[in-house]
Amino acid sequence: MENIDKSKLTPAMKQYVDFKEQYPEAILLFRMGDFYETFYEDARICAQVLGITLTSRNKNSDNPVPLAGLPYHAIDSYLPRLIKAGHKVAVCEQVEDPALAKGVVKRDVVRLITPGTLTEDNLLGGAKENYLAAICFEQQGKGKKSSEKVGLAWVDLSTGQFFAQKMDVRYLVDELVRINPSECLITDESEDLPENFGNQLRDIIGTVVTKRPGWSFDSRQGYESLTEIFQSGSLEGFGFDEPDCSIAASGVIIDYLGETQKIALDHLSSLRKVVRENFLQLDQTTLRSLEIERTIRDNSTSGSLLGCINEALTAMGSRKLRHWVCYPLNNLGEIHRRQAAVTELVNFDHIRDKLRVILKNVTDIERISTRISTGRAVPRDLLGLAQALRQLPSIREQLKDCCCELLVELNNQCDSFDKLADLIESAINPDAGIAIREGNIIRSGYDEQVDHLRSICKDGKTWLANYQKKLMEETGLQNLKVGYNKVFGYYVELSRHLAEQAPAYFVRKQTLKNAERYITDELKQYETEALTAEQRSKDLEERLFNDLRREVASHTLRLQQVADTVAEIDVLTAFAYIARSRNYCRPEVHEDLDMEIKDGRHPVLDVQLGGKFVPNNVALGGRFGDVGIITGPNMAGKSTYIRQTALLVLLAHTGSFIPARTAQIGLTDRIFTRVGASDELTRGQSTFMVEMVETANIINNATERSIVILDEVGRGTSTYDGLSLAWAITEYIAMRIKCRTLFATHYHEITELSDLYDNVKNYNVAVREWKEDVVFLHKIIKGRTDKSYGIHVARLAGMPKGIIDRSNEILLEIQSTFVKEAHGPELAKKAGKIEDSGQMMLFNNQPPDPLLLKLKDVDVNNLTPLQAINLINEIKIELESR
Ligand code: ADP
Repeated sequence: MENIDKSKLTPAMKQYVDFKEQYPEAILLFRMGDFYETFYEDARICAQVLGITLTSRNKNSDNPVPLAGLPYHAIDSYLPRLIKAGHKVAVCEQVEDPALAKGVVKRDVVRLITPGTLTEDNLLGGAKENYLAAICFEQQGKGKKSSEKVGLAWVDLSTGQFFAQKMDVRYLVDELVRINPSECLITDESEDLPENFGNQLRDIIGTVVTKRPGWSFDSRQGYESLTEIFQSGSLEGFGFDEPDCSIAASGVIIDYLGETQKIALDHLSSLRKVVRENFLQLDQTTLRSLEIERTIRDNSTSGSLLGCINEALTAMGSRKLRHWVCYPLNNLGEIHRRQAAVTELVNFDHIRDKLRVILKNVTDIERISTRISTGRAVPRDLLGLAQALRQLPSIREQLKDCCCELLVELNNQCDSFDKLADLIESAINPDAGIAIREGNIIRSGYDEQVDHLRSICKDGKTWLANYQKKLMEETGLQNLKVGYNKVFGYYVELSRHLAEQAPAYFVRKQTLKNAERYITDELKQYETEALTAEQRSKDLEERLFNDLRREVASHTLRLQQVADTVAEIDVLTAFAYIARSRNYCRPEVHEDLDMEIKDGRHPVLDVQLGGKFVPNNVALGGRFGDVGIITGPNMAGKSTYIRQTALLVLLAHTGSFIPARTAQIGLTDRIFTRVGASDELTRGQSTFMVEMVETANIINNATERSIVILDEVGRGTSTYDGLSLAWAITEYIAMRIKCRTLFATHYHEITELSDLYDNVKNYNVAVREWKEDVVFLHKIIKGRTDKSYGIHVARLAGMPKGIIDRSNEILLEIQSTFVKEAHGPELAKKAGKIEDSGQMMLFNNQPPDPLLLKLKDVDVNNLTPLQAINLINEIKIELESR
């Protein structure tokens, strides 16, 4: 913050500066009347991000203060823009009535809004969780460097889902990419962190990084705050036997939420321990290159796997689906359980279709119940909740005929909330919106007092007329009038000549020229009520609303459970819907190490190309051979084929059906991919380096149960290097790891590996040559190819005809001479297998010796004896000099 001399500030500005010092990282929205004002640098940022006018306070003084304000009622539309731009926002409210304030109005920061702590729907996308993560490296002892273990905790405050895991440091980035947190908490003590850690997080994960005091990263302290939050003596029930770095990270989250949110955290009801091995592992490269959540080209959801299969109808279902896809199962029993449920929903058309009609009406129970529990719910939230709860009996009605284990279980978990829905509907006005203090939120008939106050406001005239009639009858004075005047309030008026007949309970209030005005006790009481009725009605309504909110909040845990149940039903129904409408099959997932897919399709391209997608078979592992080498021209469909295989394996492990005619897939522990050049160049790493890092990761971590997808490995360096590496890597996988591997390559030489190893098979993409043209059939067939059709692809890309013709000429020339003579390495003949030591005798691929070439060029028939002797002498000298 700029240098400010506090002594020269007005009391309000001094107050502002004090708050700003407490929240230096946030934009401080300072409530002044009907505006939130921002000052100094914050004002400049707001003007830029929000497009609001930048003016200044004390314009004419020596020190004008930059100022930008936004109307308080528009905050909901401005906040998302500030948060999306990566800012934190501290909201500073007036916490006393300005009319009653003595001196400067009391203010307080009621909330710090950060990207990882959002709960409002308008600040969040419904289909995605919003995680706040904390990272704590395990300390090996004071003063020593971090160990190999790291604790990671992550929470979605908007749903109450809270997870933790301890793992090897090498998996940290993979896990963070999969979780995709909006904000990460790390220690402010840089010696406890790998070098440049915060910046790397920002670059790789795209998250906001918030530093927290080093002392708060403490496992004992974390253990205590967690047991306090969960009101349990220990954390053993959650699977945590002792305080470790994952508990420390969880504690940091609780600490941060307590400090910034100023809300009860009752909805954080449990901490789930995540064990990596229980899920099929997907590393960051695989998530990115298979375009699971977003496309590589434009980072959009549409065109990604999730974008294509997200047919869930509720926001909870969409989030659950994302979770299932990013955390596929690694357990046959669990996979079969989900599959059985999808199968039933595929077979029972009427149940599935009816469920989908019902699910359309289910609002986001999970997030609404969080807002209710944290005191941030508005009347419309309660109505939305009631509407969702009303659908539960219909869901149960549909599921009652299902008999597979999972659907029966879900049906039993689909709790009843009829009474709660009745209560909400009887209490809240069906037209109520989002405002709590504007009144008209309580339904008439719910509370007598509210009805009474409302009738006073609305029916004032009728009451006065009735009262006048009543007084006339009581006193017999026919021209008595009951009226109201702004200065004197309510009165009973009698003309002067009748004044003497006024009964004793008429108390004189005002004398006019021709009339007397009185007040009665009853009228006085009415006056007090009428003048304050509106405000009292609003206050009472707010109180009743808050009572109701608290009552509903007492059901939070059950509501969270039913939300989870509905989400699961939604995803299973969506899987069944896709299976039916896109003609998917149930893959048989089994214990063996092979797989066979007949007529498989790429899930995304299948939808995009409609009926034009060419299905393909894949057979890998066991008797089919472990490594499939796919050669073929560019643009023929190699990448599509190998990615498709990985995607189908992944989908099969979520419990979903897959786009294929039939499929048997052996249980898989990890999917590895090394696909083309992605966006690493922009991060300053050379593509070849990235390629090798990623490939080394595969080689070091793949097991016999893994699936490896390699696309063009070795392309980032010179031909010889690249070819040698590609050869050695493939050989290593075939000999050592022996896992299901597909390798698409333009190095035709690699196909010779199949001559050396039985478990390496060759495939290529069928091409039909017709007259001068070439047609890519996108069909994968057995066998190798030695043609690349690069010039054909160049023609398709619009290269001028002159260049195409000349390229063809050069190609013919090269093929007839150079390739045959010097570059026709029959690698397999020269290559040895891997020795036991792990060393490989790489193939001998030296260019021919210049001396031999010289000899070859000699025309012996025209050589004189002297020339021959000289030549021998030259050769001898040359050899001796070597
Ligand atoms: P390669 O990896 O061989 O260069 P790609 O897999 O990138 O080729 O495929 C190039 C294009 O061919 C894709 O964008 C897609 O439009 C089309 N394609 C690939 N496979 C198929 C298929 N099986 N059926 C129909 N079109 C396909």
